[in-house]
Amino acid sequence: MMITIGILAIQGAFIEHKKRLNGLKINTFEIRQLSDLTKNMDGLILPGGESTAMKRLLLDLNMLESLKRRIKDGLPTFGICAGLILLAQSIKGESSHLGLLEIDVERNFYGRQKDSFKAPGQSIIGDIPMTFIRAPKIVSLSKNVTPIAWYHHDVVGVRQGNILGTTFHPELDRSNKLYEIFIDMIKNA
Ligand code: GLN
Repeated sequence: MMITIGILAIQGAFIEHKKRLNGLKINTFEIRQLSDLTKNMDGLILPGGESTAMKRLLLDLNMLESLKRRIKDGLPTFGICAGLILLAQSIKGESSHLGLLEIDVERNFYGRQKDSFKAPGQSIIGDIPMTFIRAPKIVSLSKNVTPIAWYHHDVVGVRQGNILGTTFHPELDRSNKLYEIFIDMIKNA
């Protein structure tokens, strides 16, 4: 089965995912406008970047509702960092965006000195390197959400139905484990 993944490409770190997925023999295309959301795709990536900027652009481009609809209809979706924030049901101190993933997040949680850092962490399929860039913290999750990755005692990766999310950036480390989890979700969808 040839898999095609659409990558939201209006802002942030989308090129890196494209390279990684193409390296895994996955077809990709960039989602830049409303009409791109009607294309055939087996999965969707919401990359890292700046969630407030992404939200504003999604509204300006009239894409927010259609994006929400596709994910709600079951499209396997992987949100990374800002992408995870977009998906979250609640964001400390501000209103939510897509509101589809039952987690509460706090943006830019890891203070100044640790604005960005690399550290080893754990996942359901083994230890992995993790890169955090002004990452949010998942402060709570509903019982419908399954943790899939941890850094110390923090949950840093989650799954709920067709949605996968991480607060770290798998596109910036050599491990393919998170992509493998996502590709398995697509194959089993
Ligand atoms: N700090 C960004 C935000 O709040 C997320 C950072 C990232 O995606 N690397 O949206």
